Amino acid sequence: MRVEAVELRRCQLPLREVFRTSYGVERTRDVLLVRVRTDVGDGWGECGAPAAPGYTDETVEVAHRALRDRLVPALGGHDVHLDGLDAVLDGSCDTPMARAALELALIDALLRAGNQSVAHWLGATRTRVPAGIALGVEATIDDSLARVAGAVDAGYRRVKLKIEPGRDVAVLDAVRAAFPDLALQADANGAYRGDDIEHLRAIDAARLQCIEQPFPADDLAAHAALARAIATPVCLDESIRSSSDAARAIDMAACSVVNVKAARVGGLLEARRLHDACVEREVPVWCGGMLDTGIARAANVALAALPGFTIPGDVSGSDRWFDVELTQPLRLDDDGCIRVPNGVGIGVDVDGDAIESCTESSEVLPVSPRRS
Ligand code: MG
Repeated sequence: MRVEAVELRRCQLPLREVFRTSYGVERTRDVLLVRVRTDVGDGWGECGAPAAPGYTDETVEVAHRALRDRLVPALGGHDVHLDGLDAVLDGSCDTPMARAALELALIDALLRAGNQSVAHWLGATRTRVPAGIALGVEATIDDSLARVAGAVDAGYRRVKLKIEPGRDVAVLDAVRAAFPDLALQADANGAYRGDDIEHLRAIDAARLQCIEQPFPADDLAAHAALARAIATPVCLDESIRSSSDAARAIDMAACSVVNVKAARVGGLLEARRLHDACVEREVPVWCGGMLDTGIARAANVALAALPGFTIPGDVSGSDRWFDVELTQPLRLDDDGCIRVPNGVGIGVDVDGDAIESCTESSEVLPVSPRRS
């Protein structure tokens, strides 16, 4: 496949609800979409990078520049194949979200041309995956209880609550009391410090499936110390940028669960390697997401259908965050699962009119037929 041009689109999508985490508050999603135009057809990808630094330093501006100045020009003169993507996209790990977006667009185009779905290509072993939802930090415990009740009513099989110092144990205990059998997780996005371990011991009472990323990404020692101090499994997200990061963290007992997020590790290929590394070490994984539109969501649902994903992840319907949907919808069925999309490419068709309606800016970058 020869890439002839790459279109970078910035779309503005208002969130259906204000989303608060320990990093800050989000009201609108400034999402960067990537469309590759090739000699065998088009493909779409989505960049998970946020508007402001926090979850990662790779903001949407940083990712946009990396694509425009480095990743897209590097496609020049290459014949692109599914088994040669790492070579074409090599050297891009300092901007994994940009890399993941371009990789997904290339995979989408190649699989559409080859009449194959991403789920089949990845090695999915399930046709449906249980849906989970991530809920933000709320002002009061009652507000959190109302949000959890709404998620349970909507059919979600597992609920993850964002927590931070001052809004943690009491909220989780209240939710547990109201929903004794609910599969429950907590995500601190690195908001605690090593001397909070004594406080975090109290979290065991909530019987969580895991506590995710309590400490900053580079503090594996604190995670290992907490894992020794509590019964709740410790899960890592921001700390794991690659399959080798996961191997190191597991070997030092810093986690016993891993959040696999394609955007964070540079794309689906590394996400699958991360999954494989965890399966090899008998560590369960679940599928995380960003504030995804249907494009990234479809790929994530396919990823979550791999055999090692034994815990429900942040795999919600494609209407979770936005009123405007950019693809065919992905919805929860009656028992709280999402059907793995089995169309060609990412599995769903994109809605060009919907994308156009929310596009703020776009640029088309021609790709040179010769190597730069
Ligand atoms: Mg997380």
